[in-house]
Amino acid sequence: MSELNLILLGPPGAGKGTQADRLRDDFGLPHISTGDILRAQVAEGTELGLQAKRYMDAGELVPDEVIVGMITERVAEGDARDGFLLDGFPRNDQQADALSAALKGLERRLTAALLIDVPDDELVRRLAGRRVCVKNPSHIYHVDFDPPKHEGVCDQDGARLIQRDDDREETIRRRLEVYHSQTEPLIGYYDAAGLLRRFDGRRNADEVHAHIRATVATLRLEETL
Ligand SMILES: [Zn+2]
Repeated sequence: MSELNLILLGPPGAGKGTQADRLRDDFGLPHISTGDILRAQVAEGTELGLQAKRYMDAGELVPDEVIVGMITERVAEGDARDGFLLDGFPRNDQQADALSAALKGLERRLTAALLIDVPDDELVRRLAGRRVCVKNPSHIYHVDFDPPKHEGVCDQDGARLIQRDDDREETIRRRLEVYHSQTEPLIGYYDAAGLLRRFDGRRNADEVHAHIRATVATLRLEETL
């Protein structure tokens, strides 16, 4: 067996999406984002999608069984036969148990949990520095890393740049609190299971990528032995 069944953990702003894209290119692993699966299944009106929609319409969280059902179906598809990179699930110990049971049912198991670690203050600096064009939200700047030529003005169309509510420091700190309270037990869970691999997310995206790629290549080698 040389499967790479991976989950990706890390706070908002750690660059998980970027790293997932690169791992997909390196190892051919499909990036399975639970948000994407949920939206797709609801849009297609599958049985699980309809179940999920009923909860969402009622303003309730979609229960773990429904999400796990969707993930189980997804990882059984052909492109995930040699592995996958799961992002956004599990979020707590109960979900981790459910995922592990679902994989066992497919005669598979998790290879590793990859954690991109970034201190809160660094995340706040990254996220709170973002400025977005009022005319075109795809025009994005950063006050430190990618500033516009003239402060508060979009280089491309001269429109005003604003900070979105989601990017305000208080909002980010609140999201980080939620992340820590939910995810820290999960990190302990995978650490205790010997599955956790930590990466220093303070480094730039290329360095983080090089480190993750080397680790995943080693995991693959170990799986084939
Ligand atoms: Zn603009």
